[in-house]
Amino acid sequence: MPFHIRCLKCLKMIAKGVRFNAIKTKAGRYLGTIIFNFAMPCPSCKNYMEIRTNPETTEYDLISGCVRYLTDDNKEVEEADTVKIQNPEEGENINKNPFLKLEVQKLDIIKGEEMKPVIHQLIEHNVRIIIIMFIIFLMIIIFILFINWV
Ligand SMILES: [Zn+2]
Repeated sequence: MPFHIRCLKCLKMIAKGVRFNAIKTKAGRYLGTIIFNFAMPCPSCKNYMEIRTNPETTEYDLISGCVRYLTDDNKEVEEADTVKIQNPEEGENINKNPFLKLEVQKLDIIKGEEMKPVIHQLIEHNVRIIIIMFIIFLMIIIFILFINWV
């Protein structure tokens, strides 16, 4: 990987320099220079990520499945000098990256909010089941008493 990126599916960061067995295909030409397309699965979630050479800018374009890994002031991690990740394994560790950790926590909060009505429904459902069970239990007691009385 020529730069730090983030997988759009699992949000994990993939550090610059991590090697991939990418599928290399020709995606066209720009002024006679071949444009190459690289497709590779995310090491964590197997989401397919695609990048492409751009002879015009002499850089890479991110096609799908990933975004450039930027800090909150939109500088690339390397330039921002805040989070330097030399070891690719470290890049995958959310706890060592406060920015990504924050992002993941934000997503967790959103997920939690979305789950609230579902949890409420489950609680209501359980309460209903308990009430029905209690009524059935009472009917059985009444029936037994009735049988004994007769
Ligand atoms: Zn992923």
